[in-house]
Amino acid sequence: MPQLKELLTTADESLIKSLSAQAREVADSVYGKKVFIRGLIEISSHCKNDCLYCGLRRSQKSAVRYRLTDEQILDCCEKGYRLGFRTFVMQGGEDAWFDDERMVRIVSEVRRRYPDCAITLSLGERSDESYRRLFDAGANRYLLRHETADKEHYEKLHPADMSFDNRMHCLETLKRIGYQVGCGFMVGSPFQTVETLYKDLQFIRSFQPHMVGIGPFIPAHDTPFANQPQGSVGTTLRLLSIIRLLHPHVLLPATTALGTLHPMGRERGILAGANVVMPNLSPTEHRKDYAIYDNKICTGDEAAECRNCTEYRMRAIGYETVVSRGDYKS
Ligand code: SAH
Repeated sequence: MPQLKELLTTADESLIKSLSAQAREVADSVYGKKVFIRGLIEISSHCKNDCLYCGLRRSQKSAVRYRLTDEQILDCCEKGYRLGFRTFVMQGGEDAWFDDERMVRIVSEVRRRYPDCAITLSLGERSDESYRRLFDAGANRYLLRHETADKEHYEKLHPADMSFDNRMHCLETLKRIGYQVGCGFMVGSPFQTVETLYKDLQFIRSFQPHMVGIGPFIPAHDTPFANQPQGSVGTTLRLLSIIRLLHPHVLLPATTALGTLHPMGRERGILAGANVVMPNLSPTEHRKDYAIYDNKICTGDEAAECRNCTEYRMRAIGYETVVSRGDYKS
């Protein structure tokens, strides 16, 4: 814990450089000079939850709500496949319209059409049975950030009808079923402290997720946290490095939120030890409406532009994006 505090607060540039260099070396030794790409499809901006930080919370009157049809989702996959994506990530708010029947139908169809691709879901908390049915239909991975490993902190970020224990239960269930599981948290979320971050790292060490998604907290207008300070890019980079060193094989994305706060955020994330990027495959007309935070980047781009831009950016720092499922290496 004192060591973590030192790493997160030191102004000693040489210490930070060596942390980042060590993390990059470890990532290179496991995954090489390669970056895995995931095609992100944002399937719904409807949400029944009221997370205090999120621009798509149910009380957000100004949010524009949309849902993709089965055909739109399949079109995104088709486009994505042609662009070289071999992982599709379907993410959305907790939207009852995407019930098990509908999701099983969609996942089965994507599985049937693309037997060589990984299917990742990020649809929040569902029942054990739902997770099981979606896995049986062909989903391989599930992203569900734990948001914070400190129960009291969790309760300050979420309304009373959401529970830390259920979040943890979902993560355990997903793992038991056989998904490659991703947890994660926002860096600089309101009320976060070195103590809560320490618990996050301990949780990562004990849970041994296959993926860890972290990005800076970015305030969303009209939410209870609209006037809270944004997370720090520097702290996010330090934490990426620390997570890489704690868990050398983990799949670690350089997130869009990091790219939103700094024009070279994703590149810097890779150089600090990340090895995944998730370009957007969502239909351009809905991009701006998946507004979990303000000023999100790439909302006007076509899928192909995002794909090319990613490739170009990674090449510029000496990394190749690869056409493969990019599974966890055990
Ligand atoms: N409903 C899904 C997907 C949520 S969006 C789920 O519950 O898993 C994915 C992630 O975006 C969230 O887990 C959260 O960590 C992050 N996020 C939400 N609001 C944010 C904000 N204002 N700034 C940065 N990240 C945010």
